[in-house]
Amino acid sequence: MMLLQIHEPGETPLPHEERGAAVGIDLGTTNSVVAVATDGRPAVLRDPAGRGLVPSVVAYGEDAEPLVGEAARHRLLDAPEQVVSSIKRLMGRGAGDLKALAGTLPYRLAEAEPGEGGMVHLLVGGRRLSPVEISADILRALKARAEASLGRAVDRAVVTVPAYFDDAARTATRDAARVAGLEVLRLVNEPTAAALAYGLDQGAEGLYAVYDLGGGTFDLSVLRLEKGVFQVLATGGDAALGGDDFDHAVAEHFLAALGADAPSESEAKLALATARLAKECLTTRESGEWAVELGGASRRVPLDRPTLDRLIRPMVDRTMDICRDVLAEAAIAPPEIQGVVLVGGSTRVPLVRATVEAMFGRPPLADIDPDEVVALGAALQAEALTVGSDTLLLDVTPLSLGIETMGGIVEKVIPRNTPIPVSRGQEFTTYQDGQNGMLFHVVQGERETVDECRSLARFELRGIPAMTAGAARVLVTFAVDADGLLTVSAEEKTTGARQEVAVKPSYGLGDDEMMRMLRDSMEHGARDMERRLLIEARVEARRVLLALAAARATDAALLPADEAAQLDEQVRLLESLLPGDDRDAINGAVEDLERRSQAFAQRRMDKAIHLALAGRSIDEVGADPVGAPAREP
Ligand code: ADP
Ligand code: MG
Repeated sequence: MMLLQIHEPGETPLPHEERGAAVGIDLGTTNSVVAVATDGRPAVLRDPAGRGLVPSVVAYGEDAEPLVGEAARHRLLDAPEQVVSSIKRLMGRGAGDLKALAGTLPYRLAEAEPGEGGMVHLLVGGRRLSPVEISADILRALKARAEASLGRAVDRAVVTVPAYFDDAARTATRDAARVAGLEVLRLVNEPTAAALAYGLDQGAEGLYAVYDLGGGTFDLSVLRLEKGVFQVLATGGDAALGGDDFDHAVAEHFLAALGADAPSESEAKLALATARLAKECLTTRESGEWAVELGGASRRVPLDRPTLDRLIRPMVDRTMDICRDVLAEAAIAPPEIQGVVLVGGSTRVPLVRATVEAMFGRPPLADIDPDEVVALGAALQAEALTVGSDTLLLDVTPLSLGIETMGGIVEKVIPRNTPIPVSRGQEFTTYQDGQNGMLFHVVQGERETVDECRSLARFELRGIPAMTAGAARVLVTFAVDADGLLTVSAEEKTTGARQEVAVKPSYGLGDDEMMRMLRDSMEHGARDMERRLLIEARVEARRVLLALAAARATDAALLPADEAAQLDEQVRLLESLLPGDDRDAINGAVEDLERRSQAFAQRRMDKAIHLALAGRSIDEVGADPVGAPAREP
């Protein structure tokens, strides 16, 4: 602490109380919450009416200042074109990501403009806004609420993100906070924050699961706690499964019960709002009756708990399937889990609680309000980071990070689920003689080939000295910091030529794309491996052909005509096999070619030794080839 209190000469040091407060923020898809901790006791900051949740909804009307929260939600009925909700789904996503989803999203997308780097923009209420700006407006409202409630400035925050948020989405979140005038002390994974709120850092050891069912998303994370260290072992979920789906099922039930097979848009919207109300009421009541507007009249429909349970059971069961998958992937049996933390408003639903209890064989931890628990944990972490604490947070990388190598194959440098912060290096080498530059392509994903993974960044290392193929040693280092953000550097070991890039993609993976990629990687594992081996065989074949051609160009005199003819024949055979997919045939032809050129190689070697003994050196000549890195043989 003392070290932090150094001031520039002439500057009057601020007394401790005058520094801005540090808060914890859960920036949710449906609702956001801000909390503060004092002496280890966290509390949610509420509006004068006592409400802690701020709907993550923003309305851009005629006023200069946008409306955020309940007030914005009210605008949905009369001016829906001015209102944005669920903006979290677009964090870190590019226009390209959304093309695929066109028509399924309730947003109006703006045309891209030069210099925007691919970040998606929306048209709302006559303005053109990025998800970062819209999230910043939500964060500004949370900051204002905290300042009003604490009576002092708030300028720092711990902000939570889903455990599987990729680099782009984390960067976008941090940028949004910065735009809102908040310094981000740390981005913390939501499940980790929830565990902190339960005080699991104090002496709890073992495996814990965090089951988070919100408005539109479901996540399950498995944490390992050991001596105050939190490690997210595995995470999985469905980015399109949550309480909103319960609402849809109930609304359909209402409309069907009233025989309305073609409701108008506004009737459907009102039915949905009523369905949500009914669902939330049935959390504490056994049954009730609700008014549904239809054909200008209000009609009453009953709904009881057993009917609600029947309507939502398929969705609740789906969360259980995901739980089983995540546990299986982490090789953990449900009884090994020592506690299950419930997060998200939808875990209030009695059927959800009962199903979770049955699956894990123990009552879940649910004493803390499930939609406030993440913000409370974030507040504790904010206090720990400003006042000091021993708790060390360890999170994991959600997807593997790697480098493209020759042939479009991905060499994974940091596998998925590696605890962060982490730094890993891997050596690569050149593919061609005299290659003096290397193009690096950083990708994220689980598949074996580049076109199936997500491109994060490209950069180039120049100034590699001319050497024979495979002689250069280029060390590529991936460093992921505590916020989950990646920096990549490359260094040629003999010359020290260095290049570094902070990987700051202008777009990133969407949650559902991330989930899809994880699922795909499991399903396609075997086929991918086949493809990878085939590509590797082709790359090796091309390398051998290239090396042979270069040798023949410099030492044609050392190759007798009959041997040359034999080699030509073998080269033609190999070239004809290359476009095909018979890996064994390619490998066989390469071996043959190498065997048949052995005598020639031997003569070249003898000549080189001769020249060296005569005090002459072999000059490397050649163009200026630049290529992707090759794997070390
Ligand atoms: P997110 O994490 O997506 O921001 P929340 O954790 O705030 O979302 O959860 C919002 C969801 O919780 C909504 O679908 C809402 O209907 C549901 N919810 C809130 N309170 C209750 C309740 N008492 N009973 C059932 N569902 C509830
Ligand atoms: Mg949430």
